[in-house]
Amino acid sequence: MSKKIQEFFINNFFNFHSFACKCEKEPIYIAPEKPVKYNLKVFARKDAPITFSYVPGKGLVLSGVAGGVIEGNILGQLLSIKDGDVDSLITFFEKFGFIFPISQTEYETIDSEVVFEFIHRIKATVRLIGGISKKDPKTMLINTTYLLYSQQQAFTLCNGDEHHTFSHAYTQLIEGYNSFKDISFNQEAFDTKKFTVQDSIYGAATMDVPLFNAFRSGNTTEYAGSTDTHFKHLVALYSNYIGDDDLRLLIDFYYNYQTKVGIFKNVSSGKISFHGAASPNEVDTSLEEALMSIAKKVLADEINANIMGVYPQYNGRALKPVWQLNSLLEALYFSIFYMKPGVELYKECENPSCKRDKYFLIASTVTNKKYCCRACANNAAQRRSRQKKQ
Ligand SMILES: [Zn+2]
Repeated sequence: MSKKIQEFFINNFFNFHSFACKCEKEPIYIAPEKPVKYNLKVFARKDAPITFSYVPGKGLVLSGVAGGVIEGNILGQLLSIKDGDVDSLITFFEKFGFIFPISQTEYETIDSEVVFEFIHRIKATVRLIGGISKKDPKTMLINTTYLLYSQQQAFTLCNGDEHHTFSHAYTQLIEGYNSFKDISFNQEAFDTKKFTVQDSIYGAATMDVPLFNAFRSGNTTEYAGSTDTHFKHLVALYSNYIGDDDLRLLIDFYYNYQTKVGIFKNVSSGKISFHGAASPNEVDTSLEEALMSIAKKVLADEINANIMGVYPQYNGRALKPVWQLNSLLEALYFSIFYMKPGVELYKECENPSCKRDKYFLIASTVTNKKYCCRACANNAAQRRSRQKKQ
C-alpha cells in the first residue's frame, strides 16, 4: 500500500470490508385478490469486494482499493428508496452489498418486507435526529412512536444466523403486560372511587375506579379505541408498573398523551392514525418536555442496540484504534452515531421529482439549503412558476 492510500484509510473514522451482491426478486402469489409480494434471492459476489469508509462531513462512502471516494452518501441513497420499491432495493444491494454478511455459494431467501422494516427504522432514526435538533414535536412523536410501536421483524440466513430488528423493552411491555393493579383491598379506592398513581410527569395523579374497570374489562368508554390491546396493556402498566425510571416515563408519556389527544389506531412509517378525532391541542408544556426526553432516550437506545457488535482494536502499525464492524447495517448506524447532532443533519431534498441524493448531509446551521443540487433547485423553481401561470 502506498503512503497516500494508507493515509486515506488511516484518516477515516472507520472502514468496513464487504462484497457486492447478485440480487433477484421472486414473486409470491398469496391470493388472487392480494397484491404480489417479493422475496429477495441474494448472494455475495466473491469476485466483487468493496470497502466503505466514514469520512467526516461526507458520511459513509464507498472507497476504492486505491483510497479516495468512489461513491458518496450511502446512507442517503438507502433512505431515498421508496417504501415497496423492490427494484431500487435490488440496485442498492447489487452495488453496495447486503445489509448483513451472506452466503457466497447459495442464494439467501429474504422477505423484502422484512428488509424494508430495517430501512424504516433507519429512516425513523435519522428523522428523529432532525426532529430533536429542530425541536419539532410532530417529527419527534411520529418517529419515536414508530421505533416503539412497530412489530419486530426477523429473517434467517442459510447458515442459521437470525437477524431481527431491535425490540425496545417498552415494546415488549405494551405487547404483553397484562397485570392490572389489584384495587380490591385498596382503602382509597373503596372510600373515594379513585386511586392514586405516581405519575412521573404530573406527580400524584388520580384514576377513576369505574373508568379503570372499564379499560380493564374491555368495555367501551368515552375514549374512542380504549379497547385496543396496546392501550389496555398501557393502562395496566400505568396503574401498576414500578421499576426502570426511563420505562416509567415512556409509560406515563404514552398514557397521558393518548388519554388527552387520542388513542393510536395504527402506527406506520412516518404516520400515526387515531381512533376517532385527535385533539393535538391538548398537549401541554409538561407533556412536550417529556416528549423531548423520551425522544432522546429512544434515539440513543436504537443506535446503541444497532452498534452493539462494533468493537475497537488497536492497530500497531498506525498506532491508533481501529473499529471492527460486522455488517453494512452496523456501518450505517455507526455513521449515524458519528453524525454530530446540532452540527450535521440529513435533510430531505424538497424537489418532489428529485432523482439524485434525496437525503443529503449538511451542516445544521445551514437552514436555507432546501435542495440537494442546483438541478433540483431549478426544477423546483420552474415547477413553482408553472403553477403560478396556471
Ligand atoms: Zn434533489
